[in-house]
Amino acid sequence: MSMKDRILQLYRLNQVDKELHELISLRGDIPGKIEDLNSEKNQLDTRANELRKELDDITLAENSVAQENDHLLEKIEKNDELLRSGGVKSNKEYDALAKEIDDAKNKIKDNEKASKEDNSARKAAIENELVLIAGQLEDVNVELEQNLTELEELTKQTGEEEKELVSQRDEILKAIDPEDMSYYERISKVRFGEAVAVVRKGSCLGCYSSIPPQKAIEIRMAEKFYACESCGRILIAEETITA
Ligand SMILES: [Zn+2]
Repeated sequence: MSMKDRILQLYRLNQVDKELHELISLRGDIPGKIEDLNSEKNQLDTRANELRKELDDITLAENSVAQENDHLLEKIEKNDELLRSGGVKSNKEYDALAKEIDDAKNKIKDNEKASKEDNSARKAAIENELVLIAGQLEDVNVELEQNLTELEELTKQTGEEEKELVSQRDEILKAIDPEDMSYYERISKVRFGEAVAVVRKGSCLGCYSSIPPQKAIEIRMAEKFYACESCGRILIAEETITA
């Protein structure tokens, strides 16, 4: 194989590698996004559950206060009846019953005040936050659905494209000398998969630095490998590709 063909093979390999790279990076973005959305969804669900639990606890506390008040009311009525019935023998007993009634009335008042004032603000805040979370969850779910569909589509499309590119790559590799290959891989690693650069009108298209005219002619003749002095990429003349 001529030197020119060896350079051309590396150029072709690089073209395929660039496309493969693009395919993978295209898909690589979406799984991460899906993961982020799922964790956002979990956080929102957790927060909503906490709030619902708090609301339940408040209702439970309110119910137990209401129950206590019912008991207190019963007690008041009972004491009231006793007092009215005239069955109370001593002043001491009378005073005790009257005091119980007063205490119960006060306790009921305190209970009602505490439960109404403290809870209504908190309950409203919880309801507001729950509405907010429901809206956010809806947005997250829509976005999640979109990304899942996109990933599915992309995997369907790129799966075949990737297979095709890999088989092209295998075919090109058969024609590449192992030594040339290790040279290519060395540069490819440093240059993020772009080991070969085209020379057009006296410039390296990899880094846009200019190539001296004499060297540009030598690159066109392609009798050996030339590396760009500023970026280190393997240089190939545009004429070699289009020929
Ligand atoms: Zn360069």
